[in-house]
Amino acid sequence: MDRSDGAGVTELGGPEGELKGAEGGELEAQTLRKNSSSGKSYRLDYRLEEEVTKSCRDRHGCWTNPWPTWKFPSHSTLLRFLLWDKDNSNVPTSKEVLDRELPVLVPYFAQGGREVVAARGAHSCGGGDSECGLRVTWLGHATVLVELDGLNVLTDPIFSQRASPVQFVGPKRYRGPPCTVEQLPRIDAVVISHSHYDHLDAGTVESLNARFGAELRWFVPLGLSDWLVKAGCENVMELDWWKENCVPGHDNITFVCTPAQHWSKRTALDQNKSLWGSWSVLGPHHRFFFAGDTGYCSSFAEIGRRFGPFDLAAIPIGAYLPRDVMRGQHVDPEQAVQIHVDVQAKHSLAVHWGTFALAYEYYLEPPVRLREALEQKGLEPSCFFTLNHGESRCLASKEGDVFD
Ligand SMILES: [Zn+2]
Repeated sequence: MDRSDGAGVTELGGPEGELKGAEGGELEAQTLRKNSSSGKSYRLDYRLEEEVTKSCRDRHGCWTNPWPTWKFPSHSTLLRFLLWDKDNSNVPTSKEVLDRELPVLVPYFAQGGREVVAARGAHSCGGGDSECGLRVTWLGHATVLVELDGLNVLTDPIFSQRASPVQFVGPKRYRGPPCTVEQLPRIDAVVISHSHYDHLDAGTVESLNARFGAELRWFVPLGLSDWLVKAGCENVMELDWWKENCVPGHDNITFVCTPAQHWSKRTALDQNKSLWGSWSVLGPHHRFFFAGDTGYCSSFAEIGRRFGPFDLAAIPIGAYLPRDVMRGQHVDPEQAVQIHVDVQAKHSLAVHWGTFALAYEYYLEPPVRLREALEQKGLEPSCFFTLNHGESRCLASKEGDVFD
């Protein structure tokens, strides 16, 4: 099976020996290289022998979270949340105030969008960017564009006004997208963490698909491939936790679906029918970790041991109050810092805040609590940073250096 082509390819994983192929000898390695372009020339190291938490389903065939840290709020807790709890998000209605507190910048991409944007002065990465091996741009919520070792990767893209099946009702973003899909540079890969509307947006999938077609590879957790194929995507790679693949023609960059503690649902009938996850992107020079949407669980330490250290992680810091409702599915800033430590990230970008009001904390609280949490752990504020909407940061290939 050529694991790198075709629509809706499901990578349920071959024999375990394939992952631990080093002892299989040169012949096996050559066979693997010939039959796939999935990065198998990358010699897998001893760390892959370690036990890790596998995905699992309940007796109804629905995906479940295998950690004791998972808890879905009870009906009474949910009712209290919906009827009684105070929403302290207090997002201002004034555009002027929002423009001051959470400015939206026009992004600049090192590898060029369709329109050349003359906004370099506003960004921490100016001229000579094409030499940067790792560059990140925050495009609001959990949408991040990572330019890594020559490949452009987009995470959970949402460029729509609402996170909803329809655009006239449902959570509306209070900060607009910093650019359109048309203004993006070439996108080689999209990674999707799960099916919730603020992470898998039909309008954005349609626009990306219209522009890039089969040139763009979609990486999704198990069970989501059918949805993307129905949406017209031709180049979909569906993976279980700890399974890997690559973008055709870019064998040197490995995409691994890794665990996260969350759940999935788009309709009344599909709850937990598709898996959720985080993504580890392992390039020849740089490594990027996308935590997706997640509560805190012990698997982040497993990811760190197996694939760390990461040069950059994108970790959610928002939508965490009230805690008894949100704890299972969304980390708070202190737990986000723990994920940063667990996965061994050299730098992390804070995401999943400042865009949609999805929970009850004050809309500007997440970055404040993030800074306090870093200080309490004795970490530099610059190691886990926030960006303005549309702002970029270039991370050096030399260990630990940040250009800004
Ligand atoms: Zn979600």
